[in-house]
Amino acid sequence: VLEWFETKCQGSKELTDRARSRIPGGVQHNLAFNHPFPLAIDRAEGAHLTDRDGNVYIDFLQAGGPTILGSNYAPVNDRVAEVVRESGPVTGLFHEYELKLAESIHRFMPHVEMYRSLGSGTEGVMAAVRAARAFTGHSVVVKVGGAYHGWSDTLVYGLRVPGTYRMNAKGIPFGATSATREAFPHDLGALRRKLIENRVRGGTAAVVLEPLGPESGTRPVPRDFNARVRELCDEFGALLVFDEVVTGFRVGMGGAAGYFGVTPDLTVLGKAVAGGYPMAGGVGGRGEVMAVFGSGLDGRSGAHVQVGGTLSANPLSCAAGYFAIEEMARTNAPVIAGRAGDRLAAGLHRLVAKHGLPYVVYNQGSIVHLECSGVMLLDMHSPIKLLRENKPRKRLMEQMGAAYTANGIITLAGSRLYTSMADTDAVVDDALERFDRVFSM
Ligand code: PMP
Repeated sequence: VLEWFETKCQGSKELTDRARSRIPGGVQHNLAFNHPFPLAIDRAEGAHLTDRDGNVYIDFLQAGGPTILGSNYAPVNDRVAEVVRESGPVTGLFHEYELKLAESIHRFMPHVEMYRSLGSGTEGVMAAVRAARAFTGHSVVVKVGGAYHGWSDTLVYGLRVPGTYRMNAKGIPFGATSATREAFPHDLGALRRKLIENRVRGGTAAVVLEPLGPESGTRPVPRDFNARVRELCDEFGALLVFDEVVTGFRVGMGGAAGYFGVTPDLTVLGKAVAGGYPMAGGVGGRGEVMAVFGSGLDGRSGAHVQVGGTLSANPLSCAAGYFAIEEMARTNAPVIAGRAGDRLAAGLHRLVAKHGLPYVVYNQGSIVHLECSGVMLLDMHSPIKLLRENKPRKRLMEQMGAAYTANGIITLAGSRLYTSMADTDAVVDDALERFDRVFSM
């Protein structure tokens, strides 16, 4: 594998070597876990990526999830270009597509009565937490352990299991997480205990969770988990916040809320909500709660919760989101991408059995997991281990990620695969042949 990188990827190597002196850590994104060095991508189209050296890959990273229609999807690009030709990318004032996007989201997610466009999933979660605090008058927020909600101070990974360090928390003062609690997946009893503890101190503003389970279902939750959490939130007067940054539109046009039939108070959207274009994210939900944000007129008066920035709700991102949502509905993209995910997962399952590998394969439509069963069990049942750097898992993911890449497949961290509408049967079967080669190594 190392030899392949050295001989076939010289262009990427030269560029990323140069990047080391001007970009901290070399590059921003190496989600594919390509080692010994990251690849520089020149072209993206449908199901494929082409790197600087002309190597072509089947793309199961799909930018980390947003491109449900496939990469670089011309029908959306063309319409976005028309809007941008007229208004430019930003004016700092209201634009029709801010409204059209909010209306379109509401059409498919009726519980998102109102929607505020922001800059990213991270910002959407920050806004949801702030809104929940303002609405309930309580400050404590409970998250599900191991879940990723972006890189804000208050919701950083692995907060405070006594005696352990806080993962990914360098540069964050301890006080920043003083109103955040964590309950681990599968442990509704622990969640109830947190809510009881908080009640003694005033109450809980919100429970924030990823509805498929932490990290897009890498640690899956039981089928009725969300419904049970909804009941607990109602019992304790806390808002339920669904982080649908990954699941929104990907598991269906109605997102995970539609899939599970559970209605959250607030929903955070990201990724697909701008059709893969930048500034993807926002928060929506019950009108009564969303009213805390006030209007563009009084948002800075101090009477309302302030969120947003210079580029929030810009015409480019909003138009991209609007047209992407329309296209996803017109083409049935989530279902087609989901079928590709089913085919890929079934094929991987056969290959894992054929080669006798200690892997678990499962999928929720277009979100496919390929995890080593030993390290996964460790993650699921040992919160302490989960929070510590899980070295065997990371090493395995790096090695497998690089081996997949050297055989023409890009994955997310060597263990997660997103499919898109562009993944035809032929693309999936081609990928399965490549996986067969890797597993024979
Ligand atoms: N929540 C979840 C569930 C995510 O997967 C992510 C990003 N992977 C985020 C929030 C943060 O979104 P962003 O990267 O747009 O800030």
